[in-house]
Amino acid sequence: MQTQTYRQLDRDHHLHPFTDFKALAEEGSRIVTHAEGIYIHDSEGHRILDAMAGLWCVNLGYGREELVEAATAQLRELPYYNNFFKSTHPPAVKLAEALCRLAPPHMNRVFFTGSGSEANDTVLRMVRRYWALEGKPDKQWVIARENAYHGSTVAGLSLGGMAPMHAQGGPTVPKIAHVRQPYWFGEGRDTSPDAFGRECAAALEAKIQELGEENVAAFIAEPVQGAGGAIIPPQSYWPAVKEVLARYDILLVVDEVICGFGRLGEWFGSVHYGLEPDLMPIAKGLSSGYLPIGGVLVGDRVAETLIERGGEFFHGFTYSGHPACAAVALKNLELMQAEGIVERVRDDVGPYLAERWATLTGHPLVGEARSLGLIGALELVDPATGERFAKSLGAGTLCRDICFDHGLVMRSVGDTMIISPPLVITRAEIDELVRLACEALDETARRLAAREQADESPLREESGS
Ligand code: PMP
Repeated sequence: MQTQTYRQLDRDHHLHPFTDFKALAEEGSRIVTHAEGIYIHDSEGHRILDAMAGLWCVNLGYGREELVEAATAQLRELPYYNNFFKSTHPPAVKLAEALCRLAPPHMNRVFFTGSGSEANDTVLRMVRRYWALEGKPDKQWVIARENAYHGSTVAGLSLGGMAPMHAQGGPTVPKIAHVRQPYWFGEGRDTSPDAFGRECAAALEAKIQELGEENVAAFIAEPVQGAGGAIIPPQSYWPAVKEVLARYDILLVVDEVICGFGRLGEWFGSVHYGLEPDLMPIAKGLSSGYLPIGGVLVGDRVAETLIERGGEFFHGFTYSGHPACAAVALKNLELMQAEGIVERVRDDVGPYLAERWATLTGHPLVGEARSLGLIGALELVDPATGERFAKSLGAGTLCRDICFDHGLVMRSVGDTMIISPPLVITRAEIDELVRLACEALDETARRLAAREQADESPLREESGS
């Protein structure tokens, strides 16, 4: 089918996630047809460097035959069976074991889901159930952070701190509170990063005291906020949060949906930051996005209570531990280990990206360039003032669209440009990424200057997971 036919059918029948339907109908969608390595191709013949690894997930890159074979073989053998009714199947069992071997030593159980959102729904139910079983049924409040992303189901959006989602969410799940995020560039520049990190940890402690420790079940956070804008917390933040948590008996949930599986140069972001979570929701990189699968890694403290005192946990999904998805995830983990992907991110391409990415601070449009492992962000600022552009100018969306035109997927969150490339990216490809980003920044600067002069109307801003 031709591009126009696809576009028409898409416009007529397909409601896209996180999309202004009317605006997309006017503009038309990009039809992505195939991909290999770190590049996607569209129906108009463009080859585009995918610096977002799909949606933070295609960690081993596109076109991995081994993953295709793992799926095919499993689909032939046993395409589906559930894990309800005292049943299971080899791929779910093998994956559970492999995951627990990679997880921190105190985490020895996993509950499978179909996605990251379902994983966080599971988290919410599990932490409340845990405390009920511990004889503390009042411990129900979960403290999360403003501008966090934990999914798009009702529990996911309630745990998340995305203001536009809450505005559309109607009444959200009760007893979830949000504290400030450790976003130094956005909210803390009147003080030093370290002082700001400590202030954010103090805000957590103040919230625990306000709600009462006896009412608080858990604190949930991403190690590095992804969808919020690749927000790498100040060095002081996690150590200070650890100190706070040590003073109270509440559970720690670390959302590893993006940071898990090597993104920060360790198997889990928790390992990078020395955290000991009670629960870790996972998804995305678990299968490199080839098939949908998620889960919650459960620490011994919670697992023992659920098992010993629990009775039936009335929770689960048709696709919890789906055999083909589990087989692909297992193969994905095997390949990551065989190819030393995590070490490569930590010791080679992560530091190389940091070095090359930092050169972009020299660009007049860039107020900050930050990266950790293979996640990075650029804060766009007005060269004239060094401050952010007026929101109405739509600088981030403009830059994002120009990136696409230059053959680069770099996403925008407001005026923050973010990347999270496949973990298999090479040094040469990082050079190309940085070159393309630089070209796109030049073009953005030119167009913004013209827009400011002509008072041209900006593009619409979009959000997303
Ligand atoms: N948690 C985090 C940290 C995420 O980034 C996302 C998705 N971007 C989710 C949860 C939700 O995952 P899913 O889209 O698979 O439901």
